[in-house]
Amino acid sequence: MSARLLLEEMLIKRSQQKKRMSPLNYKERLFVLTQSQLTYYDGRRERKFRRGSIELSRIRCAEIVKNGGEIIPCQNKYPFQVVYDTNTLYVFAPSHDSRSLWVHSLKGEIKDNAVVSAKFHPQFWQEGAWLCCRQVEKQAPGCEEYNLFGDISRKPLPPIPGEEQSKNKKVTDDPTHTHTRAHTHTSVSSFFLLQQRRPPPPLPPEGDDDDKEEEEEVMVALYDFPGTEPHDLSLVKGGEYVILDKCDVNWYKARNQFSEEGYIPSNYITEKTSENLVQFVWYSKQVNRNKAEELLRKEDKEGAFIVRDSSTPGTYTVSLYAKSAPGEGGAAIKHYHIKESQGSPLHFYLAEKHLFSSIPELIEYHKHNAAGLVARLRYPVGKQDKSAPSTAGFSYEKWEINRSELTFMKELGSGQFGVVRLGKWRAQYRVAIKAIREGAMYEEDFIEEAKVMMRLSHPKLVQLYGVCSQQKPIYIVTEFMEHGCLLNFLRQRRGSFSLGSLLSICLDVSEGMEHLEANGFLHRDLASRNCLVNDSLVVKVSDFGMTRYVLDDQYTSSLGAKFPVKWSPPEVFNFCKYSSKSDVWSYGVLMWEVFTEGRMPFEQNQNHEVVTLVTRGHRLYRPKMASPAIYDIMQLSWLERPGDRPSFSQLCLMISDALEGETPPPN
Ligand code: ADP
Repeated sequence: MSARLLLEEMLIKRSQQKKRMSPLNYKERLFVLTQSQLTYYDGRRERKFRRGSIELSRIRCAEIVKNGGEIIPCQNKYPFQVVYDTNTLYVFAPSHDSRSLWVHSLKGEIKDNAVVSAKFHPQFWQEGAWLCCRQVEKQAPGCEEYNLFGDISRKPLPPIPGEEQSKNKKVTDDPTHTHTRAHTHTSVSSFFLLQQRRPPPPLPPEGDDDDKEEEEEVMVALYDFPGTEPHDLSLVKGGEYVILDKCDVNWYKARNQFSEEGYIPSNYITEKTSENLVQFVWYSKQVNRNKAEELLRKEDKEGAFIVRDSSTPGTYTVSLYAKSAPGEGGAAIKHYHIKESQGSPLHFYLAEKHLFSSIPELIEYHKHNAAGLVARLRYPVGKQDKSAPSTAGFSYEKWEINRSELTFMKELGSGQFGVVRLGKWRAQYRVAIKAIREGAMYEEDFIEEAKVMMRLSHPKLVQLYGVCSQQKPIYIVTEFMEHGCLLNFLRQRRGSFSLGSLLSICLDVSEGMEHLEANGFLHRDLASRNCLVNDSLVVKVSDFGMTRYVLDDQYTSSLGAKFPVKWSPPEVFNFCKYSSKSDVWSYGVLMWEVFTEGRMPFEQNQNHEVVTLVTRGHRLYRPKMASPAIYDIMQLSWLERPGDRPSFSQLCLMISDALEGETPPPN
């Protein structure tokens, strides 16, 4: 394919693999931008070797990097960033004008991309944290609005009051600082207050790296993956794989120990470093306090334990079950924060001060010694029986499913688009198959969009596996959810839910929605009827973005009888103005549905009456099961001005804080 050359220049690239900041990680590369790709080469024009290439369609953000006073260890002092899939490429231009030209050209080329980010990180990812917002997760959502059409390069960063511009910047209580998940205090009463978070990790000594080009990145498989297409590489749980190309956010090209190469799902592997807890059976990342207690009680074994993320990001809790705890008169569950000693080097400890230099060493010790805990850590719970998560489609770049490979089983329900059946793909994988009724959908538009939707892969979103689009009726094939829709689930089990389990449902939904928000994708019809529940009682968001393909005026016009007025904010029922913040309003109504165990909102009112009521400032009442603090969260979602409503990442924190508060605080 020939594509027109747009720009070509020698720039400096920071290595993406290496963790340390060393001059040796900055390499001169010939960068070439065409209408389809950004490619960088080793060497000059005449004798160049291709080192890497990014398809422009995968780029989510191109922007300058604001320098907060960091030393730039190469001669080019004008950094910019190219965010693609889940990676960030840092490039250093020799002058302000060169950088502007690259950033503007890239922005011009990506402006129609489906994947453009709503937010981005204006400063570097460095030494395990984002310098701009101090979030410690590399995939943490951005902290500043991304403006594809503006130019931020001429505006310097405002100085942070009371602080020198230094390498080791600390977060301050500056109220102008962007709110982010890592440093926003989240109880509702202090919604707008910032909390001081952990200081940044110390910088390692410089210049001690070797000068290999790119280190090989080795990952460990968390699950078996059988590989369904010839271009796939099968994974064996616990096996090690070299990552060759992160060609897609969901699929990497990898090599196994026998030098076989192929595509693997990126959510089936994890980094092989001693700090990475995901590789250990005792660590369950996505388990909150309530779920941990449920799992431990179900197991009912002395010394059963789970290590999980605390509600404070970057810290961990051990939840431990003792069948006959002293002074408890029976079984008890204790939650112990893993504490960090002050000073350097860093040490970790649990109940008493037995210090360890890593969490795995600490766990190993307490497997043999209770040392102040209510029991020894005898029996890790949670992961060993956990089934593998869904993959984003059955294979890399496979969205068309061969209909002869589907078998149909029982009917699951029917909706706006047609009948949904349980089925199997290749006689093995259980799936839900939606057969689209003639005249119910803008099919061509949907099929085009399905490629984007398949890339939305998250444990709290119902996975789209693919479509059968070659014949009528077209089929939409998705993850099967054993317990069906959340609304019926709530109604059928009325009276049996604990507050923790209701909050846990809300948390699942907010996490799925946070992923949509981070990807700039709108749901447009969030409600409990559009969420599904699986056999592990995990709730996932379904049918996102699908209203755009409905061919039924009653459903799509805000005056139509099927329009979800009761879930819509004023800017939607008046002006059809959708945004992530209109999804937040619907989320508040969904919370209300959850806390009434499936009641109809505004039960006594017709849609047109609801429009009048809501416009006058009337809101849904506080459900009996919702505490005032939980009702406060709903009310924040129903603030009149969209900009005043919290984001989904803030909602996630509020709900997980509420969930932590449901049970006694950890020791
Ligand atoms: P539509 O999008 O056509 O309105 P829905 O997605 O609402 O259809 O599906 C109709 C019903 O089918 C749901 O209420 C649910 O009971 C069942 N269903 C849909 N998708 C699944 C699935 N993935 N797993 C299990 N049941 C499902």
